[in-house]
Amino acid sequence: MFVTFEGGEGAGKSTQIRRLADSLRRQGLDVITTREPGGSAGAEALRHVLLSGAAEDYGIRMEAILFAAARNDHVENVIRPALTKGFVVLCDRFMDSSRVYQGATGNLEPEFIDALERVAVNGVVPDLTLILDLPATLGLERARGRLSAEANGQGAPDRFEKEELDTHEKRRQAFLDIASADPKRCHVIDARRSVGEIADDILDAVLPVIAG
Ligand code: C5P
Repeated sequence: MFVTFEGGEGAGKSTQIRRLADSLRRQGLDVITTREPGGSAGAEALRHVLLSGAAEDYGIRMEAILFAAARNDHVENVIRPALTKGFVVLCDRFMDSSRVYQGATGNLEPEFIDALERVAVNGVVPDLTLILDLPATLGLERARGRLSAEANGQGAPDRFEKEELDTHEKRRQAFLDIASADPKRCHVIDARRSVGEIADDILDAVLPVIAG
């Protein structure tokens, strides 16, 4: 089973992925956790290029293609093999992040995003997507808290985290629009609440899908 986590900055995806992985392992399931951009050797090599802004100089199309290249490497080398072996795969960001970051707020036309998505995922589509939703102001506050807690400025914001509040709000809406358009796959989680409450909600969404 393939579960993806999506949402804006500071939504708490990585904390929730860790909690869910622990809960599922306690139930005896084989679980792997992974993330984008990255998750496989080839994709990790592109992660720095994508997050440092180096690709930005070449334009949003180049950036979107590099995200797609990284995603395909990740799918073929990590996600598909794990699913074939019967693992539950929990992935921090996937195709919806491209629809939102390069599509909705990158202003790339949907046909271009769709074409890249088809090539990148090559048939590997999430069984469940958890969209961690919270107001952009709260998410940015949390993300800033996290960054300043990291050692000696090593947690400097990446270029995506430096953007304007209205861009973050647009992304929040774009994630919600994806959820409304695909309610069977997507489940919106209210991420304003405590870590424990969010984790309980996530488990309630995941267990029925695992049970089939
Ligand atoms: O999940 P996390 O916030 O660590 O993601 C790393 C960064 O990559 C984010 O700031 C996100 O904005 C960016 N990203 C993107 N397009 C994607 C996937 C991630 O712009 N398709």
